Amino acid sequence: MRPVLSFMALSAMLSATPAAAAPRPDPAAAAQALDILKRSVAFRTQEGAGQVPAYAAWLKSVLVEGGFPADSIVFTPLGETGSLTMTWKGSDPSKKPLVYSGHMDVVAADPKDWQRDPYTPVIEGKYLYGRGAEDDKFDTSVAIAALIQLRKAGFRPSRTIVMALSGDEETEMATTAALAEKLKGAELVLNGDGGGGTYSEDGKPQVYSLEGAEKTYADFEFSVTNPGGHSSRPVKDNAIYELAKIIDRIAAYQFPPQQNEFTKAYFAMTGARTAGPLGDAMKRFAADVNDREAADLLSNEAEYVGRVRTTCVATMLKGGHALNALPQKASLSVNCRIFPGTKVEDVQAKLTEVAADPKMTVTLLNKPVASPPSPMRKDVMDAVRHAIDARYPGLPIIPSQASGASDNMYYRRVGIPSYALGALFMKPSDERAHGLDERVLVSEVPAGVQYWVSMFDELAK
Ligand SMILES: [Zn+2]
Repeated sequence: MRPVLSFMALSAMLSATPAAAAPRPDPAAAAQALDILKRSVAFRTQEGAGQVPAYAAWLKSVLVEGGFPADSIVFTPLGETGSLTMTWKGSDPSKKPLVYSGHMDVVAADPKDWQRDPYTPVIEGKYLYGRGAEDDKFDTSVAIAALIQLRKAGFRPSRTIVMALSGDEETEMATTAALAEKLKGAELVLNGDGGGGTYSEDGKPQVYSLEGAEKTYADFEFSVTNPGGHSSRPVKDNAIYELAKIIDRIAAYQFPPQQNEFTKAYFAMTGARTAGPLGDAMKRFAADVNDREAADLLSNEAEYVGRVRTTCVATMLKGGHALNALPQKASLSVNCRIFPGTKVEDVQAKLTEVAADPKMTVTLLNKPVASPPSPMRKDVMDAVRHAIDARYPGLPIIPSQASGASDNMYYRRVGIPSYALGALFMKPSDERAHGLDERVLVSEVPAGVQYWVSMFDELAK
């Protein structure tokens, strides 16, 4: 069993140890990063548009111009998309590679619905607008500019750095699965597509969060069938009535509370910053996963229930085929967000037991990718601490768990510790990833380059 990490111990672990002299911000690298970001947005890399290979070829030309050998940069096509890797060989072959993970594709954007053309980068006021300006072309652009800056400054990594950009993160994730197989055995993955900092609405930095675990997405269908018949001759045995009882039993069930290093630290730190009974429950739950009263109180909050336990909830209902016929079939879809480390089969078995109907069938509808939580590594936490301190000294860094579906799950599945720790800070009201009029603060660009320079420097030097 893991030792209980108190909030004090955790604070000590997460607080600054003296940083090595941070590399200086480079205005030329910041200008290049903004240029890369603007030109990246102009590539329409949504599914079906077939622009990922052209975008990858252009990114390769930027890296080659930045001093990286052409043969260290490889595009691997897959259907209309593909992945790009750049390998910067380290001087110490005994050290396993560090992987930077990002993605080149974007969620589809319909120009009709946008105020500005989604694929024409526009700077207006303090913001750069465009599809992908945040997700995920921001971190990809600043990380590329950071690598070029480091190379120009004469940095030589002792640990090999691999930049791995997937090409269908928002849809199939087939390029990610292939990348993870190829990079199996790497030391760790730093993913810019997740985590990041929060500003208050008046622009003050609040917290930085990084994710070291994510839940598993699974959909199940519960079906009841029946011979049916004429509705004027009803019988006791009715598929809809039977399914209704199953629904009641599933609705009443809660999976047991669970914890990992990231959720434990999340509740310890968030509890210390949250007033009243809720903050108290967070601290108690962080200290004792078996504190049922605290777990139940947190589970009443939509914001927190997913960090306390596996959740399964009814999402769709189908039944019957005519107004004047007895139903031949009734079925229920249940969406689960499974706590990392818990097997999908075990959740299916539990739901089947809870539903307790020997005549029903239970089907798994998707192909879940389950991944274990990553360990909370001191080297990673220290590197983030130093990179954040260079910008906002002492800003709280809150470990967290994602609700699902990032490239990290594929890397964790093959055993590589993986962390979502992007450079970007934003106000909650600016969060428009996947939505309309996506935008980022232009002032984030220089800071983003600096963040990744610091991260690569510390973890690969
Ligand atoms: Zn993304």
